[in-house]
Amino acid sequence: MSERKTQIVVVGGGAAGLELVRKLGAKYGREKHDIILVDRDRTHVWKPLLHEVAAGSLDPNMDEVGYGGHAARWGYRFFNGALERIDRERQKIITAPLLDEDGEVIIDRHEIRYDYLVLAFGGVSNDFGIPGVREHALFLEHRRQADDFRKRLLNACLRVNERRHRGEEAQLDICIVGGGATGVELAAELFNAAKGLRDYGLEVFDEAALNVTLLEAGPRILPALREDLSDTALKELRALGIRVETGAMVSSIEAGHVHVKDDETIHADMILWAAGVRGDHGVAEMSDLELDKIDRIVVRPTLQTTTDERIFAIGDCAHCELPGRDGPVPPRAQAAHQMATCTFHNLGRLMDGQAPRDFVYQDHGALVNLSRFDTIGSLMGNLMGGSMAVEGRIARFAYNSLYRMHLLAVHGWLQGTFMIAAGRVNKVLRPKLKLH
Ligand SMILES: Cc1cc2nc3c(=O)[nH]c(=O)nc-3n(C[C@H](O)[C@H](O)[C@H](O)COP(=O)(O)OP(=O)(O)OC[C@H]3O[C@@H](n4cnc5c(N)ncnc54)[C@H](O)[C@@H]3O)c2cc1C
Repeated sequence: MSERKTQIVVVGGGAAGLELVRKLGAKYGREKHDIILVDRDRTHVWKPLLHEVAAGSLDPNMDEVGYGGHAARWGYRFFNGALERIDRERQKIITAPLLDEDGEVIIDRHEIRYDYLVLAFGGVSNDFGIPGVREHALFLEHRRQADDFRKRLLNACLRVNERRHRGEEAQLDICIVGGGATGVELAAELFNAAKGLRDYGLEVFDEAALNVTLLEAGPRILPALREDLSDTALKELRALGIRVETGAMVSSIEAGHVHVKDDETIHADMILWAAGVRGDHGVAEMSDLELDKIDRIVVRPTLQTTTDERIFAIGDCAHCELPGRDGPVPPRAQAAHQMATCTFHNLGRLMDGQAPRDFVYQDHGALVNLSRFDTIGSLMGNLMGGSMAVEGRIARFAYNSLYRMHLLAVHGWLQGTFMIAAGRVNKVLRPKLKLH
C-alpha cells in the first residue's frame, strides 16, 4: 500500500506564501508530498510595487505572477478561494464559495485537509475606528485598489486639464494620511507621474496643478528611519511642493474632506489612507487561534501558533516576539521573506521528526524611494558594525535589490535572472506611464 502523502496547505500567495510554496514545491512537490496554495486571487503582484501601480508609473501586468502557471512549473497545486474557517479538530480549512462578477457560484464552499497549515494572508490597513475612513478613503492593500486609484487619478487629472483649457484656475487636491513609507513614496510618485502627463495629451496639466497634503499623526514622518534621514525626506517632499503636516491626528473623514483634530478641515478630491497595518478583521471568526489586540495571530519563536503547533503564521498576519528584541517583528517584505525561509526549513525538520528551530530576524535596514527624485535609508550589516545611512544611487540599488530578491525567490535563480533582465529591457521599451 502506498504511503499517505503529507499535505501542506499555505493560505495566501503574497510576499511570504508564494516564496514558501515555490521552495516546498521544488523540494517536495509532485511525488513526495502534496503542497497546496490557497489564495482568493488568481495572480500575485508584490505589494511594495502598489504605489507605483497607483500613480501609473508601473504596469502591473508586466510584474504579476499567475498562480496556476507558477504552480504547474514548481510542483504544487493552486486552489482559488478565500479562507473562511479553520476546523482544527478535523485538520481542515473551509474556503468560502467563489463567486463570479454576477454573484453566481463558480466553486462552492470547499474543505481542504492539512497535515501542516501555514497562514500567510497578510494584513489590512488600520483605520483605528476613525469615522468615515472605510467609506470615503482609498486604500493600497490590493492590486484592484491600486488600479482603482490610478483610474480615478487619471479622470481627476483630465477634469482639471479640461477646466484649465477653459482658462479656469483648477487644481487636484490629494490628501494622503500616514507618513510611513507607503504615504511618502506615493506622494513623491504622484509628482513624478504629474511631470509626465503633459506628454500624454494633458497639455495644460503639470505638477503645479497637483496639490498634495501628507498628514502624519506622530511627531515626524518615516518613524522607521533615523531622525536625520526622516528630516532629509521631509525637505525633499517640501521641495517638490508637498505640504507635510506632522502631529496631525485625523478625527474623521467625509466625502471630499479630511477633519484634523485641532479643527482644521482639508479639502481633498482624493483621500488615501496609509496609516498602518493590522490583522484581517475576519480572523477572529475563522478560528480559535490566539490573537493580539490588532487581530494578528500570535506565534512562538518557531513561527508555530501558540494555540496549535501544526499551524504556522508568517508575514503581516503574524505577531512574533523574539527574545532580545523590543516589540514584534515589523510588517515588512524582508520579514515576510525571512519567515518563509525559516518555515520552509522548520516544515522539513518536522517531517524528518526533528524539533523546529527559532526564527532569527535580521534587520537589513529600511529604504524609502522618493520616485526618481531620490532614495534614502539605512543599511544594517555586521561588516558596517550597525546602521549606515545611504542615499542616491547606492540606496536605489539596495531598494531595487529587495524586489530582485523576491523575483529570485519566486522564480528560482535562472528564470528569476531572466525576469530581472526583462524588467530592465521593458523599462526602456515600454511607455513611462500606464494611464488606462
Ligand atoms: C504600498 C505598499 C508599499 C510597501 N512598501 C514596502 C517596502 O518598501 N519595503 C518593505 O519591506 N515592505 C513594504 N510594504 C509591506 C510589505 O508589502 C508587506 O510586509 C508584505 O507584502 C507582507 O507579506 P505577506 O505575505 O504577509 O502578505 P501579502 O503580501 O499581503 O500577501 C497576502 C496574500 O494573502 C491573500 N489573502 C488574503 N486574505 C485571504 C484569504 N482570506 N484567503 C485566501 N487568501 C487570502 C492575498 O490575496 C495575498 O495574495 C509595503 C506595503 C504596501 C501596501
